Amino acid sequence: MTGNLDNLLSQLRTTLGKMEVALGVIGEAIAWTDSEGKIQWSNATFDRLVERQRFQVLAADILELLPLQQQGRTIAREVHPLNRVLNEQKDGSDIYEYKQGDRQLFLEISWACVQFKQQQTSAVFVIHDITKRKRTEELLAIAEAKFRSLIQNSSDMICILEPDGVMQYSSPSHERILGYSPSYLMGKNAFDFIHPEDVNSALHVFTQAMQDTSNTWSVEFRFRHQDGSWRYLESTVSNLLADPSVRGMAINTRDITERKRVEAQLLHNAFHDPLTGLPNRALLMDRLRRAVEHAKRHENYQFAVLFIDLDRFKVINDSLGHTLGDQLLLEIASRLKPCLRPGDTLARFSGDEFTILLEGIKDTNDAMQVADRIQAQLRPSFELGRQEIFTTASIGIVVGDTECDRAEDILRHADIAMYRAKALGKARCEVFKVNMHNRAIALLQLETDLHLAIEREEFCLYYQPIVSLTTGWLNGFEALIRWRHPQKGLISPVDFIPIAEETGAIIPIGNWVLRQAAEQICQWQKQFPSHPPLSISINISAKQFAQPDLSYQISQVLQETGLDPNSLKLELTESILMENAECSVAILEQIKAMNIQLYMDDFGTGYSSLSYLHRFPIERLKIDRSFINLMELDNETSAIVQTIITLAHNLGMQVTAEGIEKVEQLHKLKKLGCEYGQGYFFSPPVDATVAETFLFNKRNWLSSGRIDPAIAMPKTAQNLCKLPKSSYL
Ligand code: C2E
Ligand code: MG
Ligand code: MG
Repeated sequence: MTGNLDNLLSQLRTTLGKMEVALGVIGEAIAWTDSEGKIQWSNATFDRLVERQRFQVLAADILELLPLQQQGRTIAREVHPLNRVLNEQKDGSDIYEYKQGDRQLFLEISWACVQFKQQQTSAVFVIHDITKRKRTEELLAIAEAKFRSLIQNSSDMICILEPDGVMQYSSPSHERILGYSPSYLMGKNAFDFIHPEDVNSALHVFTQAMQDTSNTWSVEFRFRHQDGSWRYLESTVSNLLADPSVRGMAINTRDITERKRVEAQLLHNAFHDPLTGLPNRALLMDRLRRAVEHAKRHENYQFAVLFIDLDRFKVINDSLGHTLGDQLLLEIASRLKPCLRPGDTLARFSGDEFTILLEGIKDTNDAMQVADRIQAQLRPSFELGRQEIFTTASIGIVVGDTECDRAEDILRHADIAMYRAKALGKARCEVFKVNMHNRAIALLQLETDLHLAIEREEFCLYYQPIVSLTTGWLNGFEALIRWRHPQKGLISPVDFIPIAEETGAIIPIGNWVLRQAAEQICQWQKQFPSHPPLSISINISAKQFAQPDLSYQISQVLQETGLDPNSLKLELTESILMENAECSVAILEQIKAMNIQLYMDDFGTGYSSLSYLHRFPIERLKIDRSFINLMELDNETSAIVQTIITLAHNLGMQVTAEGIEKVEQLHKLKKLGCEYGQGYFFSPPVDATVAETFLFNKRNWLSSGRIDPAIAMPKTAQNLCKLPKSSYL
């Protein structure tokens, strides 16, 4: 019996021992206390938790072993689980913090009140270390908060759509960017806000994303802002229907309105002129190319290009300054606009050049009518600052035909026609003809040849006598240039001086003339001394006159050749002087101070302000031959010549009549008191050899009457002296 009991006890001990071991390895710490809180039993996990040996734990006060905290504060004894379990006699559980060395642990403590075999009330505490779980939860909460904050503060808009486009979620940034609150958007269909023109492409991308989960898709579209305006958006669509945390189409959207505006501005700048805002050369060429293509496909479709060049813009720009020049261009642009029909293109081509593309015209007449309207629009004066300005335009017209299929060629033809209009007197329009093209090519060749002509010594000077109408003696010569072109023969200055002027070749040519004439006259003065000494007149062109160092160049030539400045006369046309009258006065004064006399050439053909005439230090007026020509036929012209002579005398100037061809003209001019004369009546321009015979013979040009060139000069010289005007062009 005793043996059985011993056996049973031994078995019980073994079982208790096993249970002790088992309770020691489970994760929860367990402690049993009496009603005073003294620990009666604990498992090994508890001992480890409080970092004590078993013998230190047993009978120890649990309140001391397990000082707990909540939200960083040590909890008071009264609310310690021990007191709660004993006072309230209720089971419960709560989470506490517990400091273990440097570590802060989170403990989930469950307690139970135990009444064991009528003994005093005890308490059992089961303590679960949930620090790891807590930390993970905390990290998760932080991550979620970060994510939420990112979404809420993101400059991008994030929304989640149902497969039918209804908004499930929209981030707060929608309100900032599009004006709609997320609650307003909730349940609305996103596609209802998209611009009708963009809905299809947006839907297409959305459908693609629905079908393909492996990619993200991008699309640009316009979205209606709450204020009614359209914003450009760029969205990336990801299919997250299968993602349990989303279950929708995730749309990440960025506002690209500003980028689009800048892009549009750049595009506009690339195709428009910054000053006038009109289409520029690039846009015009693009439209012209399209018109050419259209014309190829549609037999009855016709278009025309008008090339417009202002006639006096450079003068205005140089004299009034660029600001007023720009203002003039702006006003011209606004006057040209009403001349067009919808669909036509007015472009600013460059500087003072405008181009118009007329589309769908009937014939050339339509284009001519537009050109007439333009001329009429430009006719009234422009008010710039306090100045009243008049301007005209030369217009070249080309009507598109199927033979010319390159936009560049069409434009070149319009340009050529415009140059023709300029050459024919400006302020007019010319329609392009094929022969103009040939002429333009010839001109180009001429330009090239001109540059080489000086070094190839192809220029020569002719000399035309200027005769004193009072004494009949030779007053001097006017030096007139000729170009002996190796292929084209003798070319008149009328034909090449304007080109040389335009290309700048006039500067070396002018210098050559000055030097050559100065050397020649010096030689003649030595060979044929006279009193007063023989003088030489030289023509100065606009570009030469505009050179800042003109007077220096002249003084150099005078110094090098030894020519007395009193023997040199410079001829300038009135238009050269009037182009910048104030400036001209100063330059003329400078030249006059060198003892060089100044003549006003071709008087009456240009635009002279009489108020200025007296300010120019001009010695002599040369009345243009067009007046002398008409003198005997027309009494009115005679009256004008008389007025000019009187005016000149009143201003203290002498007068030379140009182009005297008949004895009647000579008599009349003498009667009117004209001091000097020049013309075929005396002699045409002749080469140096013939001029020398005049000097040698010392003839009186009035008493010996008209000279017969056939007697006066060799055969070859005769051919060279009388050049028909515009022999080349
Ligand atoms: P311009 O200075 O008025 O020269 C007078 C022009 O009238 C010359 O023409 C002369 O040959 C012509 N002429 C003279 N008497 C008569 C006449 O009785 N009847 C007719 N029908 N014509 C007459 P040219 O030599 O052809 O020169 C034309 C223009 O070319 C000159 O007009 C001048 O403006 C310019 N020019 C000539 N040589 C030079 C030069 O060396 N430099 C510059 N810058 N221009 C020049
Ligand atoms: Mg002259
Ligand atoms: Mg003249």
